Amino acid sequence: MADEKLNMASGSDLSATGNFIHNYIQEDLGENLSRINTRFPPEPNGYLHIGHAKSICLNFGLAKLYGGKCNLRFDDTNPSKEDTEYVESIEEDVKWLGFDWEDRLYFASSYFDKFYEIAVKLIKEGKAFVCDLNAEEMREYRGTLSTPGKNSPYRDRSVEENLDLFERMKNGEFPDGARTLRAKIDMASPNINMRDPVIYRIAHASHHATGDKWCIYPMYDFAHPLEDAIEGITHSICTMEFEDHRPLYDWVVDNSGLPAKPRQIEFARLGLTNTVMSKRYLRALVEDGKVDGWDDPRMPTICGLRRRGYTPESIRDFCDRIGVSKANSKVDSALLDYCIRDDLKEKASVVMAVLDPLKVIIDNYPEGQIEMLEVENNPENESLGSRMVPFSKEIYIEQEDFMEEPVKKFFRLAPDKEVRLKGAYFIKCVSVDKDENGNITAVHCTYDPESKGGNSPDGRKVKGTLHWVNASTAIEAEARLYDYMMLDNADDPDGEMIVNPESLIIKTAYIEPSVEHATIDDRFQFMRNGYYCIDRKLSKPEKMVFNRIVSLKSSFKVTK
Ligand code: ATP
Ligand code: MG
Repeated sequence: MADEKLNMASGSDLSATGNFIHNYIQEDLGENLSRINTRFPPEPNGYLHIGHAKSICLNFGLAKLYGGKCNLRFDDTNPSKEDTEYVESIEEDVKWLGFDWEDRLYFASSYFDKFYEIAVKLIKEGKAFVCDLNAEEMREYRGTLSTPGKNSPYRDRSVEENLDLFERMKNGEFPDGARTLRAKIDMASPNINMRDPVIYRIAHASHHATGDKWCIYPMYDFAHPLEDAIEGITHSICTMEFEDHRPLYDWVVDNSGLPAKPRQIEFARLGLTNTVMSKRYLRALVEDGKVDGWDDPRMPTICGLRRRGYTPESIRDFCDRIGVSKANSKVDSALLDYCIRDDLKEKASVVMAVLDPLKVIIDNYPEGQIEMLEVENNPENESLGSRMVPFSKEIYIEQEDFMEEPVKKFFRLAPDKEVRLKGAYFIKCVSVDKDENGNITAVHCTYDPESKGGNSPDGRKVKGTLHWVNASTAIEAEARLYDYMMLDNADDPDGEMIVNPESLIIKTAYIEPSVEHATIDDRFQFMRNGYYCIDRKLSKPEKMVFNRIVSLKSSFKVTK
């Protein structure tokens, strides 16, 4: 069982103004900066996941805290894997998480002309050159961490020749890979990123926004700082793997001729136990049919979490609790469970549903009578009121709530034992029916009519309170119970990704009729079981399908 307290403690020291990014921003605001502008810059090549939510909460959260702005910018400089389907889903997800980019929705591809202009400027200033080395040669010339690189034989081309070749690259005169445009920095730099990095490549590829207009595309390390500078971003927050690229980021900004001087700040990516996070792996799961699409409720994608029943509040709370640091680490998935439980405990109505039914026949209850009993909706929140629940002679309880030969400390139903039915009556077991194999088919009880509402008539006590549903009026629905998506070898990049075979268990649930008109925004606690919501994709009026968002306790099996 995962220890939730432990996880919470590790996040709680990072209060609203406590992390290092705040220190940088406060420092900058104290010096020469009068405003802050952050951005969330997804590449539209997949659906957003909870790691992106961390970045979204951070960027929009900082802007809000310091009275600044946060842009939503699609970093769509790579034509091959990008698609408008992803653009739409990303906008939907950011909005759903509760953030507003107002009129600041940008596409890096709309700056392609500007990037080209800046590349030409660099050539004219002798700071960029067209290189004919192929990929393999370029690797050889690059050197290693311990040895310096060698200058490309094309490094000293004249400005005129470079301008001519670069224009012809743009005009599509050369095949993919034939030439590149490289920044002329320093082949002996200890930082390999500074060894004349490629800033443009040839790719005869159609782009989702610019179509076939371009057959050269800027590299990320060139485009990203320019995007930030063009938009007047003050703090460019990215993940740790870009730390070594920061000198190049600064070089590009400094040589761009643009006035803005964004500051790049790196933080650690979010990783979660028992799941995969990178889009590459998530896409593979989708494409291999191992999950039911990007929005499979087991996926750590925002649309998966939404379908599963997570609330935006719970995800924002999670992002607050994990905090921000520079050390890569994995957060226990149980913390996410904790956050949704905490959000729903006072919001969700508690209803009764039985997943493994055992029929109980109340011998002394009038045949054919159905009585409506008032049951509170949430013992932790009186304002949610109450509802009427039908009761009659035949009900279902959970199989596990009955033992013919009870073990020690079993306080639920057993022969001659009395229990309380939640909101209904005290019942006492008098006999059991069995089939020819000796399996119990029904339990016979008597009820005490004086114990209506589940209240003791004479001060006598019962230890167990069971949930139940009236058999004849129960809604028969599908309940989908989830466990963590991956077994633990999830992030071995070469290993096969093994989806936890027990990550989805489908059961039939018998639910009290009050859920009949539930909508996709309703969430319920199924008493003593977990939090549920309707599956927005699979549920139909004639056959409701419920997802278990999370069980009531961290009884999830965490495979280590
Ligand atoms: P992936 O590796 O999952 O494909 P990515 O970094 O390629 O992610 P982008 O679309 O480029 O995805 O990411 C947009 C923003 O979200 C970037 O600023 C990136 O740093 C941030 N981001 C992506 N994954 C995480 C993560 N696991 N934790 C925190 N931030 C993340
Ligand atoms: Mg990326």
